Amino acid sequence: MSESVNIYFKCKGRMYTLMMKTSGENITLSMLVGRICTKLELDESKVKLQLRYNAVLLGSTEEIYICDDEDVGVYISLGENNRRYVLYVEVITPPELPEQLSRVEVINKSSAGKNYEDEMRDNAAIVLCECEEQGTEPKEAIVEVDDTQDAEIGSQDESMDIHDDRGDEYVEPPPVVEADQFKKEWEDGIGLNLFQEFPSRAALQEVVDKGAFANSFGYVIKKSDKERYLLTCAKESCAWRIRASNIQNTSIYSIRKYNKMHTCTRISKSMTRMRKRKGTPELVAALLHDTFPGQMETPVPKVIMELVQTKLGVKISYSTALRGKRQAICDLKGSAEDSYKDINCYLYMLKKVNEGTIIYLKLDEEDKFQYLFIALGASIEGFQVMRKVIIVDATHLKNGYGGVLVFASAQDPNSHHYIIAIGVLDSENDASWGWFFEKLLTVVPDTPELVFMSDRNSSLIKGIRNVYFAG
Ligand SMILES: [Zn+2]
Repeated sequence: MSESVNIYFKCKGRMYTLMMKTSGENITLSMLVGRICTKLELDESKVKLQLRYNAVLLGSTEEIYICDDEDVGVYISLGENNRRYVLYVEVITPPELPEQLSRVEVINKSSAGKNYEDEMRDNAAIVLCECEEQGTEPKEAIVEVDDTQDAEIGSQDESMDIHDDRGDEYVEPPPVVEADQFKKEWEDGIGLNLFQEFPSRAALQEVVDKGAFANSFGYVIKKSDKERYLLTCAKESCAWRIRASNIQNTSIYSIRKYNKMHTCTRISKSMTRMRKRKGTPELVAALLHDTFPGQMETPVPKVIMELVQTKLGVKISYSTALRGKRQAICDLKGSAEDSYKDINCYLYMLKKVNEGTIIYLKLDEEDKFQYLFIALGASIEGFQVMRKVIIVDATHLKNGYGGVLVFASAQDPNSHHYIIAIGVLDSENDASWGWFFEKLLTVVPDTPELVFMSDRNSSLIKGIRNVYFAG
């Protein structure tokens, strides 16, 4: 590593340069922040800097935040010949830095008692890093924390959204005069707490959903976006509401305002309106998580229908039960969609740890996944000594996106299958098989003794013929 490190950073639309006369591994976060502050003529004790960069060459579109010395080390080591990604610097001047809500306190308050608890603890470290090091989130949190502390549950009626300065479009309607004898406040029975955190909006909704069913009230989602989530009672004049804010750069939602008291008339359980309310797949999934925590295998839809009926008193259809069952599995192992999203990172690492690996990824015009071809380095090497008989087969993928998983294998001297290459194609047609064999040709060269065996369709035969026996 050279004895000076050049850093290019951008702040408020202007580019700056820094030359740090030391070797890269000596640079710490405070050193870097100090130099940037000097350059920008800022008082280091009065501001906080948020540093991030976009490592496009790693195939990631997410911005990477620099929070500690380790992050600095990684960032510095990403540059070659002193050419580094531009560092984006955001200067945060908090009005005054109030005592920050300690993390321990937050966790204690999160007495979720659900199976999210573990997840929340896992996430806690990430959040801590953001709050303390970057100081972005507190911008919002400060405002919120202050007024929620004054307004502990029970006395927060005036402090609710009427005075919300964040621009919720929700306007408190004028109080509707209801028959006096019913004007008794009642508690929602969900048992949420301020600052309680949920891994996602959906997770929070699940809990509220169940609570609403159990306690016979309806709710409406007034706002649901990347920043906040606002639920109010279905009766417009009622004061019940929950507001959760997203914790920046995570999917976590934290309850910032909560009025658990309903001022509306309670709907009796026997009222048809509740009976008519439909169960959702999410509700089914939540119940399955509760009843069979962590299990992939859940009862058949018919049994789930009965379970929902007895436990929640809701009639659901067969398809809702099935969708809920699938949702529960998705919640546990992540969706197929997420897997496709991570494919670039996966392929990058696969190539990195397997020398000689050949990977082709084809996207369509809209940059969506189309075909994939993988031949591991070791497989390619081993094939040199195999019999030149190649078996090609495929199987359909059952992940909702369709497509086929195809593979080309040879036989080793012990007559064991030896996989040379695998591929994922959108479907079995001329274009996809043609593409697969084109790529296979780069791994398995065309020789006179080469034999293909397969029981697949005509597109495959056409593909082989066009690529291998074209000459
Ligand atoms: Zn209400």
